[in-house]
Amino acid sequence: MTSALPTTDRLRERALESLRRCGAALPGGADADAAARTPITGESLLPLARSAAGDVDAAVGAARRAFESWRTTPAPGRGALVRRLGDLLREHKADLADLVTIEAGKIRSEALGEVQEMIDVCEFAVGLSRQLYGRTMPSERPGHRLMETWHPLGVVGVVSAFNFPVAVWSWNTAIALVCGDTVVWKPSELTPLTALACDALLARAAADAGAPPDVHRLLLGARDVGERLVDDPRVALVSATGSVRMGREVGPRVAARFGRSLLELGGNNAAVVTPSADLDLATRGVVFSAAGTAGQRCTTLRRLIVHEDVADELLERVVDAYAKLPIGDPFDGTTLVGPLISARAHDAMRGALERAAADGGTVLAGGGRRLREAAPDAYYAEPAVVRMPAQTEVVREETFAPVLYAVTYRTYEEAIALNNGVPQGLSSSVFTRDQREAERFLAADGSDCGIANVNIGTSGAEIGGAFGGEKETGGGRESGSDAWRAYMRRATNTVNHSEELPLAQGVSFL
Ligand code: NAD
Repeated sequence: MTSALPTTDRLRERALESLRRCGAALPGGADADAAARTPITGESLLPLARSAAGDVDAAVGAARRAFESWRTTPAPGRGALVRRLGDLLREHKADLADLVTIEAGKIRSEALGEVQEMIDVCEFAVGLSRQLYGRTMPSERPGHRLMETWHPLGVVGVVSAFNFPVAVWSWNTAIALVCGDTVVWKPSELTPLTALACDALLARAAADAGAPPDVHRLLLGARDVGERLVDDPRVALVSATGSVRMGREVGPRVAARFGRSLLELGGNNAAVVTPSADLDLATRGVVFSAAGTAGQRCTTLRRLIVHEDVADELLERVVDAYAKLPIGDPFDGTTLVGPLISARAHDAMRGALERAAADGGTVLAGGGRRLREAAPDAYYAEPAVVRMPAQTEVVREETFAPVLYAVTYRTYEEAIALNNGVPQGLSSSVFTRDQREAERFLAADGSDCGIANVNIGTSGAEIGGAFGGEKETGGGRESGSDAWRAYMRRATNTVNHSEELPLAQGVSFL
């Protein structure tokens, strides 16, 4: 099933309407040297000017100055700004979702879900603004109090990826703002329009809430703009989301100046399906996680590790479901698979399928390209399932496209070793009705990932938990739980209210 596509003119009109309603102005004009593009048709939408080197310097300087007053604004007062932002996001949910679909190619329901995630994290952050708790510890000395306080950190530089063009920004920004930080955002060069809309809504929220306008600054551009931001010593924390390649560059640069970094990088997520699994549930979980978002989520399911006794039956069901996936216009309410972001993503998918075949893999479903004639510059890929004889090198890499590799296992030890046998460590899941297997998967010698699920797929996390992964995924945690601590600095305080000066560890002096 394939649906027809809207024209680029219609998409441009729709994007402009959404931007206007959000109050965003386009930084374009005669010097425009970059363009917004839509993967729906693969064509250019609007010319845009990217930020110059001096703009980075000015944005960080302005955010640093705004920090001076923002850090002393009481945290619940900072929460009032985020509450207003949440209200505006609710009001403009459809506008932002339109822009997400136009620029990232997400289907309607996922684009609306992404904006809902922004609203949810704003609610979470508003509550957090009254709960930035420090601990009081028992002091070993009489008449002393030992405690910790959490203070705002400074300017947070947010570098984000194309595939969650608004949610990742909101996870960082809503939390950073209530923590008393200010934010400079460098979104993906592939999604500048959604960024302009978010920036405009936050500027409006700041004006309404009486917050300094420079609590947030936006920079447009590619890697060179990101590099300038990352290297600026006034940026206390760099929160960077994207590929492992990017993280390998950003991490050492920030460390070299003793800055802090929070890295959210690539995943290579697996689901283990055991003989006791509910195969209906497993099939639905697998298909959503593997083919949803056209395989372009960091948590996308890329490896299916299935017991040899149920492999044929499960794969038959998955292949059956894949054959019925509607592919095409992401604005069409019946579409479940939209376009890939670019020709490069499609090339990567083709290359991975060729390498998998050379390693002895058999393509069970998909791999073709749709709508080539209707839109020669757009890339609508049929999600693929490939049965592999082993977890070969290509399976151990993240190909950011809908390719699901299936391997079989005999013993549960072997399944866990396969799950953990990749350089990335973001998300994982097990489908089982056996409590021992479920608990073992979650135990210290089970899955080594930042996210480990039971009887749901690898993607679609809620904002309430801390999000992130281990190994090459970068180790960062964002969003819920106590992830806020990364955005603050901790001070340990000892207060002596006695008339003596006892030294710790019983040391005598004077
Ligand atoms: P990408 O690495 O190409 O780009 C991400 C961002 O980094 C962009 O804004 C880009 O301009 C910037 N950038 C690139 N090189 C840089 C450098 N040297 N210095 C500073 N900035 C630099 O990633 P992408 O293609 O936009 O996104 C897909 C990747 O992101 C996948 O690997 C996916 O798994 C990952 N991702 C991870 C998470 C997570 O939370 N772990 C979430 C979303 C996406």
